[in-house]
Amino acid sequence: MFGRESKPCKVYEYGCLQPVAGEEVLIEEMHCRQQLWNKLVEIERAHREKVREILVVPDDPVTPLMERLKELREQIKLARKKERTGKVDVTPLQKQARELREQIATAKIQRNEAKKLARETNKDALDQLEKERREAVKAAAKVSGLYWVNAEEVRNNYEIARRRAMRDKTELRFHRWDGTGKVTVRWQKGLSVPGVFKNDTRMQIDPVPEEAWEHPTRSVRRKKSRTRIRLRVTSDEKKKPVWVELPMVMHRPIPEESEIRCASVIREKVGRKYRYKVVITATVTNNYPLHGNGTIGIDLGWRQVKDGLRVAYWADDRGEHGQLLLEPEILHEFNKLPDLRAIRDKHFNEIKSELSAWAANNNKPDWLTEELKTINAWRSPGRLVALIFRWSVQRFEGDVEIYEKLEYWRKRENHLYDWEANLRDQVHRRRREIYRIFAADVIKKYGTVVLEDFDLRKVARKKDAEEGTRGSLPMDRQRFIASVSELRLAIQNACARAGAAVYTVDAKYTTVECYECGHRENFDASAKLMRTCPKCKKLWDQDYNAAINLLHRGVEVRK
Ligand SMILES: [Zn+2]
Repeated sequence: MFGRESKPCKVYEYGCLQPVAGEEVLIEEMHCRQQLWNKLVEIERAHREKVREILVVPDDPVTPLMERLKELREQIKLARKKERTGKVDVTPLQKQARELREQIATAKIQRNEAKKLARETNKDALDQLEKERREAVKAAAKVSGLYWVNAEEVRNNYEIARRRAMRDKTELRFHRWDGTGKVTVRWQKGLSVPGVFKNDTRMQIDPVPEEAWEHPTRSVRRKKSRTRIRLRVTSDEKKKPVWVELPMVMHRPIPEESEIRCASVIREKVGRKYRYKVVITATVTNNYPLHGNGTIGIDLGWRQVKDGLRVAYWADDRGEHGQLLLEPEILHEFNKLPDLRAIRDKHFNEIKSELSAWAANNNKPDWLTEELKTINAWRSPGRLVALIFRWSVQRFEGDVEIYEKLEYWRKRENHLYDWEANLRDQVHRRRREIYRIFAADVIKKYGTVVLEDFDLRKVARKKDAEEGTRGSLPMDRQRFIASVSELRLAIQNACARAGAAVYTVDAKYTTVECYECGHRENFDASAKLMRTCPKCKKLWDQDYNAAINLLHRGVEVRK
């Protein structure tokens, strides 16, 4: 896994039906993986606690200063609030705050020095702790009862997550068991593609005829691509494989010349139902370049325009440019989601008030009186579903009418809940597919991709241009629907797989600088989508301008 030369890989995802054999073993293995994860989190937390005890800096100079700064900020806020005109003089306070910030910076350096010293003087103890941690992790994996590949995958995930947690100064989280999960098989040396259609001991796929991918009629392709896959979940006492077997649709082939590195069965939950899929990772061994050789600048960001929701604008070194648009049709699908949610909320509120009214005027057992005390504060339909279940096993005199109403509500709620979950899943898949195709097209033509170097959390929404304000969506809906971070990830993944270069460049001034003459001037971005540069009089689309600027900066960086 580590230290080996990484070849470009491609991921193949195939939908599956519920297993026809081995589902119980599969779920058991997934459950064991979740338990091992939680055990590792426990080990990690105990370990971090011990390390902290060793590295504690006595009389930490930073904390009191930080508290003082917080107070000061409150004072400034308060002073401003009192003087509504905002003309109150807070400069002395601001000066104090500035001085304090300088002191904090120095104190932080001191604290880091102290920590470094503590690290050096306690090196042996820390090494010992690290050794103990590793042994504890190894032991936990050993007693987990997992097939070695699964145990190793959990351990790898844990090592990656703990490094990230240390960097971000957060704690690892326990995972709740909800019946979802993954099992994996792996081949150190890779498995040839013809091999999977034979008698490998980790994965077997029933042969699929070529017509499944090549027949001109879609219905024939669909029919012929139905097959079955067996994946090793674990081993029995004789070290023989224990399989899970699932019906699978192999809608696209894995090229003969590639090598399979790993494969997983994934169990997900959509609504109240579980769904299965298989993900196969294979190397791409062909020699021809997997990407084009042009350079493209892509400005990511959403903005409502006349024909839909613009999520990116690109410009390349051949003078071509264009936008990626989410069209009204998919926006419409996205907008059904809050509608469904609203219907569910309405039904929930109706049945709640009906139940309250009934409760006020009817005799009922004590347990129900107790349960209904807080009903007005219930926000989740789940509470009511649980109550109905409790009620169903202790029916009482005179409850028929209201109980039937509750049952009716529950059935409708279940139906709508599944509907909403499935629709959400569908539209998210559609968007992912749009982004995947865009990324694949980019890779086909370009070998160098220039993106903005930004922290996505800070990415600001582009203001609506005047052309786009008709029938505007609310801001947070636009952000949710656009999911620019997903697009960025799709592009980065496609580049990584194909071995194309990604440059991230400073995004400062990319919007306010004229690509033609370099003139910089802040302007109200919401006023117009098209802007005329006040200096050179060139007329440009704001996003096109940003994309061209990115492209130019990317070319600069490469020199
Ligand atoms: Zn200009």
